[in-house]
Amino acid sequence: MPDFDYIIVGAGASGLMLANGLGSDPHFKDKRILLLDKDQKQTNDRTWCFWEQGEGEFDSIVHRTWDAIYFAGEKYRAQIPIKPYQYKMIRGIDFYEHYLGKIKTFPNLTFLTTEVNSIEDQGNEAKVLTNDGPFTGKKVFSSVFDGSVLTSQKRYPVLQQHFIGWFVKSEDSIFDPGTATFMDFSIPQKGNTRFMYVLPFSEKEALVEYTLFSETLLPEEEYESAIKHYLKEDLQCEDYEIVVKEKGRIPMTSYNFKQHNSKNLLHIGIAGGWAKASTGYTFRSSAMKVQKLIKHLKADRPFSSFDKRSRFWFYDLLLLDILKRDNSQGRRIFESIFKKRSPQLLFKFLDEKTNFWEELLTMSGSPTWLFLDALRRRLF
Ligand SMILES: Cc1cc2nc3c(=O)[nH]c(=O)nc-3n(C[C@H](O)[C@H](O)[C@H](O)COP(=O)(O)OP(=O)(O)OC[C@H]3O[C@@H](n4cnc5c(N)ncnc54)[C@H](O)[C@@H]3O)c2cc1C
Repeated sequence: MPDFDYIIVGAGASGLMLANGLGSDPHFKDKRILLLDKDQKQTNDRTWCFWEQGEGEFDSIVHRTWDAIYFAGEKYRAQIPIKPYQYKMIRGIDFYEHYLGKIKTFPNLTFLTTEVNSIEDQGNEAKVLTNDGPFTGKKVFSSVFDGSVLTSQKRYPVLQQHFIGWFVKSEDSIFDPGTATFMDFSIPQKGNTRFMYVLPFSEKEALVEYTLFSETLLPEEEYESAIKHYLKEDLQCEDYEIVVKEKGRIPMTSYNFKQHNSKNLLHIGIAGGWAKASTGYTFRSSAMKVQKLIKHLKADRPFSSFDKRSRFWFYDLLLLDILKRDNSQGRRIFESIFKKRSPQLLFKFLDEKTNFWEELLTMSGSPTWLFLDALRRRLF
C-alpha cells in the first residue's frame, strides 16, 4: 500500500489551493494527503494581484482593492473605472498563514517541511524522495518548477515577466489610493516591452515596480535606477523611505508543460503551465484550475485528459511570437488595445471567458497586421 493517496509537492500558491480544495471536500475525507515544502512559508515573499467581478473566495484575506486602473502608453493615457471588476491584492504572508492554519484542521492531511529531491512514477504509484526519506503516493502533484526545460528547447518562444519592486513610504502625499497603475509605458522602452506598475495603499505608501516582458533579466541596478528615476521625475517623489523590496520572474511561454506529466504525476502551478503565457498572471488562473482538477479527480479521470489546450493557447503563442521577434512591439500593442477597447473586455479575454466574436473584437483592437504576420509565420 502506498503511504498516501495524494502527495502535494510545494505549499505555495497552487499547492495550498489544492491542499485546501482536497481537505475541505467531504468527497476526499478518507484520502490520506501529504503536503511537502522545503520552506515553512512564514515570510511575505510576494504580492499577488488579480481582477475579479464581485465577491470571491479570497476576499477574507484581500489586503487592498482598486476600482480604477491607470494605463499610459506613448501618447494615450487614461484613468479607467473597471466596474464590475475590482483589482484585488493579497499579501503572500496572509495567504500562507490563512491556508496553513486551515489545513491544520484537516485530520487526513499532514504538512511536512522537507526538501524533495526527486519524484519517480513507478507505474502503480509514485515515489517521492526527500531529505526525510521516501514517501509513496497513489497520485503526486508537483509545483516544483524546473526552468531548464524551457531553455533546452527551441520550439516555443520563452519570455519572462521580470521585475523588481520597492514598497515606499513618502514624506508627501503623492499617490492616488483609488487607482492602481496597471501599465505605465511612458518610460523609455530601450528596445523592450518595459512598464511601471504602481499599487498605491495610501497617499503616502505604494509598491512601485519596474517590469519587463522580455527574454533576459537585467542587472539589479538597472531596475532600481529606473524606479528611482520614475519616483523622482514622473511622480515628483524625492523624499521617501524604501520599506522593503520584492523581485520576481515568471515564465511567459506556450511550451507544452504537460509532456512532463505521467499516469501518477501531475504538475501544477507554474510547473504545470498555469501561468497565463501572455501576461504572467497565475494566481487566479491557479484557483480556477484547482476547481477543475478537483472535479476531474472526483470523476476519476486520468491526468492525461486534464486541462486540454484551447484556442487561447494559440492567441498567447501569437503574442509571444511577436514579442520574441521584436521585443519593442509590446507598448504599441497594449496602447492600441487600451485606446480602442475597454479593460472589462480585455479582462474577460485574458480570463479566457470571451466568445469568438469578442476575441476578434479584442485582437482587432491591436495593430492587426502584426498578428496576421505572426499567424502566417506559424502556419506556413
Ligand atoms: C514576487 C512575485 C509576485 C507575483 N505576483 C503575481 C501577481 O500579482 N499576480 C499573479 O497572478 N501572479 C503573480 N506571480 C506569479 C505566480 O502567481 C506566483 O509565482 C505563484 O506563487 C506561483 O505558484 P506556484 O504554486 O506555481 O509556485 P510557488 O508559489 O512558488 O510554490 C512552489 C513551492 O514549492 C516549494 N519548493 C520548490 N522546490 C522544492 C523542493 N525541491 N522541495 C520541496 N519544496 C519545494 C517552494 O518552497 C514553494 O513553496 C508572482 C510571482 C512572484 C515571484
